[in-house]
Amino acid sequence: MDKKEIKINRMRSVKEVTKEYNKLIADVETNEFYKIDLTNRVNCYTCEECGHITKTIDIDAGVTPFMFTCEKYKETAMCSCKNITSNSSFFNDIAPNQAPTFEWYRPTLKQVLKMRAKEDGLLDHILQGGLDYRKRGVEQIQPSSQSETKSEKKAHAILFAEWCEKNDYVYLPQEDLWCDVNQERFTTSELHDRFLNKE
Ligand SMILES: [Zn+2]
Repeated sequence: MDKKEIKINRMRSVKEVTKEYNKLIADVETNEFYKIDLTNRVNCYTCEECGHITKTIDIDAGVTPFMFTCEKYKETAMCSCKNITSNSSFFNDIAPNQAPTFEWYRPTLKQVLKMRAKEDGLLDHILQGGLDYRKRGVEQIQPSSQSETKSEKKAHAILFAEWCEKNDYVYLPQEDLWCDVNQERFTTSELHDRFLNKE
């Protein structure tokens, strides 16, 4: 068995991930754990090496790490702190005059499905209630967890799964492609575009 085959076998199917994502969204809506006040949920990560504070804000309710790479390293890679981690202030705003530069958010189903190919643990982290981060101000124009409400996201995921089934698209895990009745192949992204355009 070559390396490529091993990778494909380990990759989870769209259906499986969609199901887990829907379960997560339902959990986020109902579980007390996620009932967090998000009005100003900021966190400060202090670099062990240079002392710089990287300030973040949670825009969704979920799990964020205790440690974060120093922003000075992330931004320029010139700072002597290199990849030294920064330690969380556990949501104490120890830098009230500083604006958050990164935000923690829950990725959409579409974004989560794209994570299947990578083996960096991010997919598992998200499906277990974790949040991903992005630079503040980036991607805010696109529909994301901010503009798509939780119930809308769930409805969207279910509709897509139902639409695939109704239209006889079959997922082929070995190829990571979808197959229609005419044996024509599509990527998940192509299929999702078809779904959005309802051809
Ligand atoms: Zn640093």
